[in-house]
Amino acid sequence: MPDTRSNTKRWLRHPHETALRMDSRPLFSLDESMTAPSPKDADIRPPAQRGAVFLDRDQTLNIDHGYTHLVDDFAWMPGAPDALSLFHRHGIACFIVTNQGGIGREIFTAAQMQAFNDHLVAQAGLAGGHIQDIAHCPHHPEAVSPAMRPPCGCRKPEPGLLLGLAAKWNIDLAASVMIGDRDSDLAAGRAAGCHAYMFDGTDLSGLARQVINRHFADSPGGDNA
Ligand SMILES: [Mg+2]
Ligand SMILES: [Zn+2]
Repeated sequence: MPDTRSNTKRWLRHPHETALRMDSRPLFSLDESMTAPSPKDADIRPPAQRGAVFLDRDQTLNIDHGYTHLVDDFAWMPGAPDALSLFHRHGIACFIVTNQGGIGREIFTAAQMQAFNDHLVAQAGLAGGHIQDIAHCPHHPEAVSPAMRPPCGCRKPEPGLLLGLAAKWNIDLAASVMIGDRDSDLAAGRAAGCHAYMFDGTDLSGLARQVINRHFADSPGGDNA
């Protein structure tokens, strides 16, 4: 079979060597590299700390039936899919921080919670959103095992879940926002140094727009209308 590929595409012929250019031109000239910074210059610098959005799970993203853990019980709260899509289109990383004391109470297992979370993450993707990571607290004051009872540092209103994610993902907490349906969510967010917003259950996408306008106004792209 004759090679009909043009010269300009020759350097792409090896799938595992896409960075290998077959011609001798440099990637950029010195003159080009010394001109005023362009937006692309920022892309090759080491990633700076950025703000993120921390979301409570039950009764913020999904409807809470009380110790919700069955995939069949999954249902979005009003506006949640659009909120996740909005954050993603603006390049804002979304994390879930959730108390799952039902594990400590042995109402459900960590594996059941994981299956529910996997389903939520998949549904978020179908809605155009993206959940970067999920942190949960399995402890509960009435846990079956004393070892699963607080104090633990991670059960909201403690800030441990947010602090752990911030360390793991290099998040600027002072530029971040916590959204939840309970005072304990807001307290955890504030204790971590974040802004905090109560979701009243009516429309999470409306709240997402407010948060983006107030705290992520310089974020890229997206339809902010
Ligand atoms: Mg909640
Ligand atoms: Zn805990």
